[in-house]
Amino acid sequence: MRMNPAFAFCLAAALALAASAAQAHGRARKTGHAAHVHGQARLMLAVAGNAVQIGLETPLDNLLGFEHAPRTAKEKQAVDALRARLDTPQTLFELDPAARCQVESVRIAGLPHARTAHDHADLEADFSFTCAQPPRALTLQLFSAFPRLQRLDVEQVTPAGQALHRLGPGQSRLEW
Ligand SMILES: [Zn+2]
Repeated sequence: MRMNPAFAFCLAAALALAASAAQAHGRARKTGHAAHVHGQARLMLAVAGNAVQIGLETPLDNLLGFEHAPRTAKEKQAVDALRARLDTPQTLFELDPAARCQVESVRIAGLPHARTAHDHADLEADFSFTCAQPPRALTLQLFSAFPRLQRLDVEQVTPAGQALHRLGPGQSRLEW
C-alpha cells in the first residue's frame, strides 16, 4: 500500500523539517492506532542519512506466548531469552550489508517482571543504528524469530518518502 505521491512528498518534506528520525517515530506513535491484537504488531522504520531508527510495538504474547509475570523457571528463561534477543537487534533487523550498520542503542519497555500483574501487556522497543553508508534495504527476521506473529503493519519514512506496508509471514524485505 503506497501513499499518494504528492501527499507522501509533503509529508516527507514536513518530516525532514521536523528534523530527526526519532521525532518522526514519536509522531507516528502518537497518531498511530495501537490496538492490542494477538498475532499483530507495528513497526516504525525511519531512515535519515546514515541513521536508522526502528520502533516495535507488539503484544507480549507474540514474543513469549504469555503476557503475565513469569511464574515458572521456563517462563523466566523465556523472558531472559527474549531480552537477549532484543539486545542484539542486528539478528532481527538485517540492514543491507553494504551500508555497514552498527547498533547504536536499544531501549526496551514492557518486559514482564515479578511484579507485573495484568491480563494483557505490550512490549515497546526502540533500536537505533548508525551506518557507514545510507542503507537501502532491511530484511526482517521477526516472523522467523516469533512464529506467533502473523501480521506486521510497517510505517516507513525514508529518503524515498513515506510508505505503509502490511506484511505477513514470508514477506520480510523492505526496500527504499
Ligand atoms: Zn494480550
